[in-house]
Amino acid sequence: MKKLLFSKTKIIATLGPSTIDINMMEKLILAGVDIFRVNFSHVCDEKDVKKIVSNLEKLNKKHDYNVALLADLQGPKLRIGNVLEGTILVSGAKIIVTSKEIISNSKILYVSYKDLYKDLKPKQRILIDDGNIVLEVLKKRTDKTLECKVVYGGKLKSNKGFNLPNTTTSLDVLTKKDKKDLKIIVKYDFDFVALSFVRSVNDVRYLKSMLKKYKSNLLIISKIEKPEALNNIDEIIDESDALMIARGDLGVEIPLQQVPVFQKQLIKKTRAKQKPIIVATQVMESMIVNQTPTRAEINDAASAVFDMADAIMLSGETAVGKYPVRVVETLQKIITYVENNNETKHKTPFVVGNKNEIISDLIGYHSTVLSNEAGAKGMILFTGSGNSARFVSSTRPQSNIFAFSINKKTVKQLSISWGVKVFSYEKNMKTLPEAIEFASKILKRKKFIKIKDLIISLTGVPIEDCAKTNTITLIKVK
Ligand code: PEP
Repeated sequence: MKKLLFSKTKIIATLGPSTIDINMMEKLILAGVDIFRVNFSHVCDEKDVKKIVSNLEKLNKKHDYNVALLADLQGPKLRIGNVLEGTILVSGAKIIVTSKEIISNSKILYVSYKDLYKDLKPKQRILIDDGNIVLEVLKKRTDKTLECKVVYGGKLKSNKGFNLPNTTTSLDVLTKKDKKDLKIIVKYDFDFVALSFVRSVNDVRYLKSMLKKYKSNLLIISKIEKPEALNNIDEIIDESDALMIARGDLGVEIPLQQVPVFQKQLIKKTRAKQKPIIVATQVMESMIVNQTPTRAEINDAASAVFDMADAIMLSGETAVGKYPVRVVETLQKIITYVENNNETKHKTPFVVGNKNEIISDLIGYHSTVLSNEAGAKGMILFTGSGNSARFVSSTRPQSNIFAFSINKKTVKQLSISWGVKVFSYEKNMKTLPEAIEFASKILKRKKFIKIKDLIISLTGVPIEDCAKTNTITLIKVK
């Protein structure tokens, strides 16, 4: 049972038609899932959301787990409409692109973007179906359509997505559908909301203002899948609660070979700002139909672990794949092995200048140094908002981080953070020894630590005043 000896890199699994069943969700959790993702591009029915939320509540209660829920908004995904059956676009042929709704064929193509004529210029490209079909604009026509050349042809299928790389689109970050979905998301017990196609900090601020209006404490995960987001990345990280490298769309929007470089840079940058980061898409893609991943997929997942991303996300593999449980088991095996055999790990814990939190940040940083030096088996901390746990997590210590929170939302929201295992508690603690004894007892009972192990506690003293973290204690477990 995975949850007893947890790994530091977390697993997010997307739910789909075959996996929203309670027995299947239980198998996925036992195989290693920390967070379930509900993708609102596909799940549209409130009944399904209700079922997922209620299944998870029952399973968390049954196993005493804190598996969390992530809602992923579709965002302004551009799509072609209906296409005449059997339509094939031939490379080199010309085609008219229109934003007036028609059934498309090899001569004329409808796209669901009304400002197409305004925003696109000659030489810009339209990438259909993840770039499998590529069109290039030749000229704008007087009837507000575009004359294009088929650069790479192929079979055209109804409702496929398309991307406009290097085109600044004038679309709102939340569509009518997203706003409707958001009402459902805030009504149910979600912990994170992922914002698709973020371009600037204003997109994140807009969702934040909506959440404020709904008095919601969901954490915002900005999906990085547009070149504009990469240009504005520092501000976006500052305003977001977490990031997702959405490699599916990103790999269409920027040249493919750039994705691995940005992945490494984003993991470093986000970690330096003490925010969690998810590596997403095509992690075990071939397992949608096959029983084992390709060797290249194993390397890709391992690389995310070596780089110490907080979480790895599965999409189609668990949403529509033939072997959802096997996929999670396989990813879990890779994570566990790589984490235990990573020679370069934990060499560079670093402190970042957050002037407002200088004492707690320094305590966090030095507790990691001490913990690594002492070979401690665990770092215990008590947290209200989760910030101190996120800080310690960002220093990537060798030992596990055991966070205790009285705030039920914080407990679930820390499930995304690297190396953090969270417990909820209700007891009102009065002194430091009482807090340490309380935490040690639980950790001993759950076999995370044993007598004579060294552990470190980070606390805010006086405890009864809920003081900010200011004290490190090194303890031998009794
Ligand atoms: C992606 O593009 O990689 C992604 C995660 O987004 P979606 O699955 O919503 O397309």
